[in-house]
Amino acid sequence: MTLSTPTLNPPIRTLLGPGPSDIHPRVLQAIGKNTVGHLDPYYLQLMDDSQKMLRALFRTENRMTFSVSATGSAGMEATVVNLIEPGDSMIVCVNGVFGTRMVDVAERAGASVTKVERLWGEVFTPDDLKDALAQAKPKVVGIVMAETSTGAWQPIEEISKLVHDAGAMLLVDAVTALGGVPVEVDKWGIDAIYSGSQKCLSCPPGLAPVSFNERAMETILSRKTKVQSWYLDATMLANYWGSDRVYHHTAPINMSYALYEALQVIHEEGLESCFTRHMLNHHALKAGLSALGIEYTAQEGHQLPMLNAVRIPEGVDDARVRGDLLKRFGIEIGSGLGAFKGKVWRIGLMGYGSRPANVLLFLSALEQLLAEQGYVFDHGSSIAAATARYSESL
Ligand SMILES: *Cc1c(COP(=O)(O)O)cnc(C)c1O
Repeated sequence: MTLSTPTLNPPIRTLLGPGPSDIHPRVLQAIGKNTVGHLDPYYLQLMDDSQKMLRALFRTENRMTFSVSATGSAGMEATVVNLIEPGDSMIVCVNGVFGTRMVDVAERAGASVTKVERLWGEVFTPDDLKDALAQAKPKVVGIVMAETSTGAWQPIEEISKLVHDAGAMLLVDAVTALGGVPVEVDKWGIDAIYSGSQKCLSCPPGLAPVSFNERAMETILSRKTKVQSWYLDATMLANYWGSDRVYHHTAPINMSYALYEALQVIHEEGLESCFTRHMLNHHALKAGLSALGIEYTAQEGHQLPMLNAVRIPEGVDDARVRGDLLKRFGIEIGSGLGAFKGKVWRIGLMGYGSRPANVLLFLSALEQLLAEQGYVFDHGSSIAAATARYSESL
C-alpha cells in the first residue's frame, strides 16, 4: 500500500486558533497510560474524581455533572435533546455561528424555536429578551457564553434572573468559556451547561463536560416522551455516572485519563490564577495588535481573553498570512466563519496555550508577514507594547 504518511509523525505546531488548543505535556502523557476496563474499580474511582474536579470547575454541587463521550457539539445535543420534547417552545440567542448551530439542534429535537438576534460581535442585554420571553413562553432559553466565532463574552447572571422569572430554564454553551473565564453554574442559576475538552482545558477533542441541576433532571425524569437520542439520554447516563454504574457505553478510557490530568493541572494552578493568566496574555496581545492598528470585532468591554477575533487590515491577504504562519512558523490561527469569512482572524490563547512566549512569537511572526505584504506600521511596536504590558503586571 502506498501511503502519503508512511510513519505517523505529525508536525509540531503552535495551536493558536479557536481549538483544538495546544495540549499540556502532562495530558499527552496521560493518554498513553495502561487502558483498564470501563467498569474496573480503578476507572470508577477515576470517574468519581473527575466529577469532583468538574463540579469545582463549573462551581456547582450538581450531582449530574459528567462528560459526554463526544465533542462539544454532542454536549449541545445532549443538553437540548434531554430538556426539549417535540413541540416545546425554546428561545435561542443568536449572535454568531454557535447560536445558529443551537437553533438547528433545537429544531431537529422538535422544538418550536424563537430566535433572538444581535449583530455578530455584540452581546445580549436582558432587555433584548423581554418581549420574546413574554410572547414565546419558552421552556428553555439557550445562550452562548463565549461565542468563538466573534470573540464576544456574554454576561449570564442578569439574563438568568430574567429567564427564571419567566419560568424558563437557562441552557448555557460554555465550550470555549470553561477554564478560561469564571463560570458560576450555581451562583448564576444555570440549569444545564456543556463544554468541550479541546479549548481552555487543553485536552484533545473528544469529551464534553456537562452539568444538569436538580430542576433540569426532574424535568427530564418527568418527560412524556423518551429522549429522542439513545446515546445521549441523561436518565441512562445517570445510571452509569451515578452510584449504580450500569453499563451504558464503553467510555473512552484513555481520553478520560487526559481529561482527569487536564483538570488536575487547572486545579493545581488554581482557578483564580488561571483566569488572571488568560486575562494578562489577552491584554498583552491586544496591546501588541493595537500598536499595529489591528482592531477587535467584539464589543468593547465584552472581549473574550481566550479568543481574540480581530479585523484583517485593509489590503492584507488573509489566506497568505495564515498559510505562511503555518508553513514558516508552525503557528495555526483561525479564519473567520460565516459572515466573518475573509474579514477576521481568530487568535486563540486557550489554557496551556495562553503564555507570554506564544504572544511574543505570534506578534513577531505577524509583523514579518505584514511587512512582506507592504502593510505600513512601526516595526517592533507590537513587541514593545506587549512587553510593556507584561512589565506593568510585575
Ligand atoms: C467549538 C465550539 C463548539 C463545538 O464543539 P466541537 O467540539 O467542535 O463539537 C460549540 N460551541 C462553541 C462556543 C464552540 O466554541
